[in-house]
Amino acid sequence: MSSSASSVLQRVFGHAAFRGNQHAVVDHVTSGGDALVLMPTGGGKSLCYQLPSLLRDGTGIVISPLIALMHDQVEALTALNIRAACLNSAQDPAVSRQVEQDFLAGRLDLLYVAPERLLTDRCLSLLERGRIALFAIDEAHCVSQWGHDFRPEYLGLSLLHKRWPNVPRLALTATATRATQVEIIQRLELDQAEHFVASFDRPNICYRIVEKNDVRRQLLNFIQSEHAGDCGIVYCLSRNRVEETAGFLSRHGMVALPYHAGLAASVRAANQQRFLQEDGVVMVATIAFGMGVDKPDVRFVAHIDLPKSVEGYYQETGRAGRDGLPATAWLAYGLQDVMQQRRMINDSAGDEAYRRRLAVQLDAMLELCETVSCRRQRLLAYFDEASDACGNCGTCLHPPGSWDGTVAAQKLLSAVYRLWRERGQRFGAGHVIDILRGKLTARVQAYRHDDLSVFGVGADLSEQAWRSVLRQLLARELLTVDTDGYSTLVLTEHSRDVLKGNVVLQLRHRSSRKASGTRGRGRAKSRPGTGVPAPTSV
Ligand code: ADP
Ligand code: ZN
Repeated sequence: MSSSASSVLQRVFGHAAFRGNQHAVVDHVTSGGDALVLMPTGGGKSLCYQLPSLLRDGTGIVISPLIALMHDQVEALTALNIRAACLNSAQDPAVSRQVEQDFLAGRLDLLYVAPERLLTDRCLSLLERGRIALFAIDEAHCVSQWGHDFRPEYLGLSLLHKRWPNVPRLALTATATRATQVEIIQRLELDQAEHFVASFDRPNICYRIVEKNDVRRQLLNFIQSEHAGDCGIVYCLSRNRVEETAGFLSRHGMVALPYHAGLAASVRAANQQRFLQEDGVVMVATIAFGMGVDKPDVRFVAHIDLPKSVEGYYQETGRAGRDGLPATAWLAYGLQDVMQQRRMINDSAGDEAYRRRLAVQLDAMLELCETVSCRRQRLLAYFDEASDACGNCGTCLHPPGSWDGTVAAQKLLSAVYRLWRERGQRFGAGHVIDILRGKLTARVQAYRHDDLSVFGVGADLSEQAWRSVLRQLLARELLTVDTDGYSTLVLTEHSRDVLKGNVVLQLRHRSSRKASGTRGRGRAKSRPGTGVPAPTSV
């Protein structure tokens, strides 16, 4: 069988050899086994079900969440003379009927179906009447209720096993922690599946995380100095921010297009088309953009807001450098990101368990941001893969160093504590830092906060340094943000350990002295509009 797999690989697909564990998956599935396939984006997952579909009797049924993606795949397969078609709701009924007939007559090698379509009675009864070579469940992480791409229809796919116990099934994904893998196996009833887990490392991507101060300016510097004329993706958290940022980059001479769910479908499709076809287009998008977009020469993926989970971050950054050439994953993150996300979680509608899951995901993301060791090592460790320091990430290239921040943390926490104990008050980051630095602002005077014993005890650190301390305390849940809607700071159950001196806190030094280059350095103290102070060196 192996030799015929190899010859089909060459003859039909035009590839000289299998990649990674493709061969093993193909053999296993062709001989009737179930498989869980984890491969990074661009690793070549499609072949793992396309080839066995050709080798086995009947049609390979591919369940795929995105209609656009199906069309691309069907087109690509047709170009290789493989008999492929899709069934989806956007289709003309006459076309659907033709596809159904072709399937029943055994004239299809592969049939792509959206999950909600598959679960209809009509489609299930159609499948009952034809011959099925295998079921491939693409983007299988969509079954995870806690994941970043949850699709309720995916939960219904467990019936495949019940109805067709003898048809091999593959679940494929580019993102899965141990927990997600377990969920995939349980929900899709894949206990018998063999696991094929490829290395998740993408050595050509250089992971960089910088401290945010004036993010649009930083982004512009980054693109102009390192990726001028390159194709890239900029991810933002909100539609507004997408629009603003696309406008900003366009005004600076780039071809920057917006993409988010609030745009008309035709605009989205047109922008995506330009991104795919033209050179040097920068797509500014929410996470609505990207799944199934296969553009090999994306040279950078930038995040100007903190992603909500490492899985999401990894999936999004994985869209860079699919061609194997050097690419950059660049993330700017700051105090406001942590405050905002902690607040969003605290305010979110779900139950306690749900909030807890979100918090755990955020914590992992923050750990990645605040680590003083290799970013890639951290990232891979999140996917349970051990590795050495990589030499090609921000911290390997410019080690940030750490410092004993225990005393600083105690000062900050006790300021929060005293405000609450002595005055019954809670305040946000800016004011607490003013108190620590002994700044006689109007607000300090109005509240007589210059009488507090902590007033001025932190004059030795710059404002920016305090923000960094605060961010790291929030990241480690030694402090949190209240749900009162004002982002006021409150202690957590862990704060006491620091205040009592039971723990030593190693904090990350503010890094990237060089990173933002010359620009922005000479600019004045505070930037109007943002309320964010200019960086000062530590
Ligand atoms: P994934 O779905 O894992 O992101 P794809 O299946 O889309 O990846 O494959 C990514 C690219 O790699 C495609 O252009 C595909 O043609 C190519 N590819 C897959 N397998 C091989 C192989 N064995 N040799 C060469 N190219 C391959
Ligand atoms: Zn590294």
